[in-house]
Amino acid sequence: MEIREIASEKITEAVCKLFTDCNYYIGDDIMNALEQARENEDSQLAKNVLTQIIDNDKIAAKEQIPMCQDTGMAVLFVEYGDRVVVDGEGFYDAVEKGVAKAYIDGCLRKSVVDDPVFDRVNTKNNTPPIIHTKIVHGDKIRITAGGKGFGSENMSSVKMLTPSAGVEGVKKAVLDAVAYAGPNPCPPIVVGVGIGGTFERAAQLAKLATFRSISKPNPDERYAALERELLDTINKMNIGPAGLGGKTTALGVNIEASPTHIAGMPVAVNICCHACRHKSIEI
Ligand code: SF4
Repeated sequence: MEIREIASEKITEAVCKLFTDCNYYIGDDIMNALEQARENEDSQLAKNVLTQIIDNDKIAAKEQIPMCQDTGMAVLFVEYGDRVVVDGEGFYDAVEKGVAKAYIDGCLRKSVVDDPVFDRVNTKNNTPPIIHTKIVHGDKIRITAGGKGFGSENMSSVKMLTPSAGVEGVKKAVLDAVAYAGPNPCPPIVVGVGIGGTFERAAQLAKLATFRSISKPNPDERYAALERELLDTINKMNIGPAGLGGKTTALGVNIEASPTHIAGMPVAVNICCHACRHKSIEI
C-alpha cells in the first residue's frame, strides 16, 4: 500500500485560497437563484433589494473584495484519505496557518474572539477554525470550506424530537426556526436541515447541508420532495429579501439525514444568509 506525502505548505496555500475565493466569489448556484428570484418577484421593493445583492456580489468578484463586512468564522469539512501523510507541519496547524493567511493577506475581517464569555479578546487572525474531519479510504484530501456569518448562525436551532413527531414535526421545527429568524439572518436565506444522529451530529449535518449546492437536491426522492415543499412554504411567509416582504425568503432548503436512535429524531436547522459562501478543493 503506497503512502502519499503532501507538503504542509500545499495545504496552507489551498486553504488560504479557499477562504479568499469564497469571500470574493459567490457560487453560481446562489447567483442564478438570485437572478431567477428577481424575475419572479412582483414587488418592486423586493426586486430592488435583489438587484442590490446581485450588484454587490458582482462588484466583490470584479474588485476582489469581500461580498460582506462579516467575512465569517472559518468552517471546514475535511475528508482525509487514510493513505496520506502530511510532511512538515501537522495537518491542523497547516489549515490554521492557511486561515490566518487568508484573513490577514486578503483583508478579511477578523471576527473570532478567544474566550466566549469572559475575555472576548479578538485573536486577530480569525483562528481557530472549526474543522470537521472524516477519515476516508484513499490518498487524497478533500476540503470544503466556508466563512459563516453570525447574523444567520445565531438564528439556528436544534430540536430533540421523538419519532412520534413524524414528518409533520420536522416541518414544524424548520418553519418555526425560519419564522423566529424573520429578517435577522439577511434573507434570502439558505436553510440547512440536519435530521437524525445525535444532538451534535444533527447540528453538524445541518451545517454540511448549507455547504451543498442549492441546485443539487437530496438524492433520496422523499427528502428531495420535502426540500421542495419546505422551500415553497417558506417562500409564502412574506419575509422576503432583507425582510421587506416578497416571494423570496429562501433560495434553497437542503436536508441531510442520518441513522439515529430508536427513541429519537433530532432536527437541527442551520440558517445561512444570501452570502452563502463555500468552495471545495481536492488535493
Ligand atoms: S448574516 Fe450574512 S449577509 Fe448578513 S451580515 Fe452576516 S455574513 Fe453578511
